[in-house]
Amino acid sequence: MNCEILSVGTELLLGNTVNTDAADLSDRLAALGVNVFWHTVVGDNPGRLAQAVSIARSRADLIVTTGGLGPTYDDLTKNVLAECFGRKLELHPEEAAFLKAWFAENTSTKYTDNNLQQAYLPERCTVFHNDWGTAPGCAFAEGGVHVIMLPGPPRECLPMFDACAAPYIKGLSADVIFSHQIKVFGIGESAVESMLRAEMERMQNPTLATYAKFGEVMLRVTAKAADEAAAEEMCRPVTDRVLAALGDKVYGVDLPSLESLALELMRQKGLTLSAAESLTGGLIGQRFTALPGASAVFKGGAVTYCDEVKAALLGIDPALIAEKGAVSRQVAAAMALGVRKAVGADVGLSATGLAGPDGDGVHPVGTVFVGLADADTVLVRELHLGTGRERVRQLAASHTFDMLRRYLQGLDVVPEEYAPAE
Ligand code: ATP
Ligand code: MG
Repeated sequence: MNCEILSVGTELLLGNTVNTDAADLSDRLAALGVNVFWHTVVGDNPGRLAQAVSIARSRADLIVTTGGLGPTYDDLTKNVLAECFGRKLELHPEEAAFLKAWFAENTSTKYTDNNLQQAYLPERCTVFHNDWGTAPGCAFAEGGVHVIMLPGPPRECLPMFDACAAPYIKGLSADVIFSHQIKVFGIGESAVESMLRAEMERMQNPTLATYAKFGEVMLRVTAKAADEAAAEEMCRPVTDRVLAALGDKVYGVDLPSLESLALELMRQKGLTLSAAESLTGGLIGQRFTALPGASAVFKGGAVTYCDEVKAALLGIDPALIAEKGAVSRQVAAAMALGVRKAVGADVGLSATGLAGPDGDGVHPVGTVFVGLADADTVLVRELHLGTGRERVRQLAASHTFDMLRRYLQGLDVVPEEYAPAE
């Protein structure tokens, strides 16, 4: 099934709002085996929207719209789509009753007559009730084209997709889609692709595709079959070949993140964690504590940005900093040891380096040292992460989590490519 996402909203064209819905829906549609071939953004203008619909229906068999389902005058998606597909809008009494009840309960939002607009939907459609807001969505099929309309706000659009649109799409095909996400850290997308290219090009069902972000590569293996067990079975040999090709660079299958794996492993072993952060400025702590259940593991940490604070809070000898420099293997090691001791944790992580854009006249921007200390040893990786302040900071934090998961899995914590120069 080939799909076009039609994002409706002038705010998207003006750059006031980033079109995150299109990205998040594409991800979900791909997981359902739908080919998203076009993203179109159009403003709140009936003529141009009708034009966009006419192009979309000529090339796609599924059109997913976002936005413009609200009660205000610029919310015209339903009217235009209904008109384009020759359907009348009709009042859905159960949605009207829901709206009246909603406004009776939420007295801070005043009910006005135009709110009832939201209960009008194309005739003979499947109603997607909105449990996350007030504007319902809907789906219908006309002339071989399926149309799905979802609200714009992501906190409504995405749950409604999962709860209503995904089952609707699954119901259109007798086949079931199954996919695995293979998560890889520490090897670039192009390297992954070149190792697996021949394989990827050859495959039709199952398929294998790569997606890259901040040092991580995600490979998605997707198969289509009569039932889930058969589709899963088809994915298995592909998954096995990817695992064999990429080895322990693969940190997990269907896992959300490096830090969530690290948390799970720390929890299983009953270990506690601390972090001393210079260039990451709290990112390690922030990313780790964003995970539910982090309190069982993370005891605390310190943002030690300048030399004096590194010395005062972590007990690092100022002479060491003066001699080796704050961006050094030795200081990264001392930070990890120092925070572990200061906090009284089993493991200490550390990160020091240059996020840029300014260098320090000694090291190139992107030079980073990350450390891990336990009761017996301290290990340091030397990284050359290139430019882009946010990128370098996120990658540095990711490397500390990768060190931690490799430490907990009994793997080499400092693979050869990260071994510090003497
Ligand atoms: P509402 O009932 O809130 O008016 P709606 O379905 O009419 O919802 P819009 O009016 O188009 O949706 O958008 C409401 C808000 O949702 C926008 O101001 C924007 O913040 C957000 N939004 C809309 N479309 C998108 C999108 N494609 N990606 C991310 N956010 C979006
Ligand atoms: Mg609106």
